[in-house]
Amino acid sequence: MGVHRPTGQFPRHLEALYAGFPFDRSFDDDPIASVHPLARDLRSAEVAGIFAATLAIGNTSSIRGAIGRLVAATDGEIVRLVDPGWALERDRRLRGFRHRWIRGDQLAFLGRCLSEFYEAHASLEEPFVEGLNAGGFEVGLDRLARVLRGDRRVGGPRRRRPAGYARLFPSPLGPARSAAKRLTLYVRWMVRSRYPDLGRWHRVPTGELRVPLDQHVQWIAYHLGLTGRRSRTWRAVEEVSEALRRIDPIDPVRYDFVLCHTGISGDCPKHRDLAVCGPCSVRPDCLLWKGRSVG
Ligand code: SF4
Repeated sequence: MGVHRPTGQFPRHLEALYAGFPFDRSFDDDPIASVHPLARDLRSAEVAGIFAATLAIGNTSSIRGAIGRLVAATDGEIVRLVDPGWALERDRRLRGFRHRWIRGDQLAFLGRCLSEFYEAHASLEEPFVEGLNAGGFEVGLDRLARVLRGDRRVGGPRRRRPAGYARLFPSPLGPARSAAKRLTLYVRWMVRSRYPDLGRWHRVPTGELRVPLDQHVQWIAYHLGLTGRRSRTWRAVEEVSEALRRIDPIDPVRYDFVLCHTGISGDCPKHRDLAVCGPCSVRPDCLLWKGRSVG
């Protein structure tokens, strides 16, 4: 069997899915809902965003719960996590924090890396744009990952990272060619100013963005023929992003929230279900319905 492709009407079908999507329902369920109230200025938006994106593992309610516990540990002032004067208190309060396999000592180390970074830089947009201009989006992500991993040191002795820390920030340039979902999601939040994102970085064109390929987006992208790959690798990210860019070259990842939450919400059952799939706007393009009709 050849590679599945969507119909020629797919742009219209996707637009209909986007237009009819209950954004407000899914916004409340998304980690970005926890970030918005914390993003009072560029620094707090960057800090709240990167900690929230780092915790974006597992289901959405457990992610929002983890962000809430982290915010409570800072008495509602998450930007304290990068305050050099609060370093000892940060390390003490995060001791014992756990979300899935992410530990408090790792989050405290992230706070330390960011604190050192902000001594010499105004924004995480700087290394990202540096990489973007040097070699494209994946190089931008790689530069960002290096800062977060603490690879770039402002000065002084090399620090000892907590066990497993570097794995929190994989790069698409690494040997596994990671999809780097959480960093890609973070960049989407920071760059897009349209709902539901934060729009705090102004030097990155939205047309350059790549789709954060989580399991829900991967499933629907594969079944709509936006990629022929079942594995979540950087090449799949590029294929899906390119397919969406052909539909909207200016803002290709505006569809990401809809594709993702169609899966999270259960709007898409991920199997043939006449009652649910019947009214689905993209059913004519869906691999599960290839060669089948509803009546
Ligand atoms: S047709 Fe059904 S399985 Fe296919 S994308 Fe739509 S809801 Fe999901």
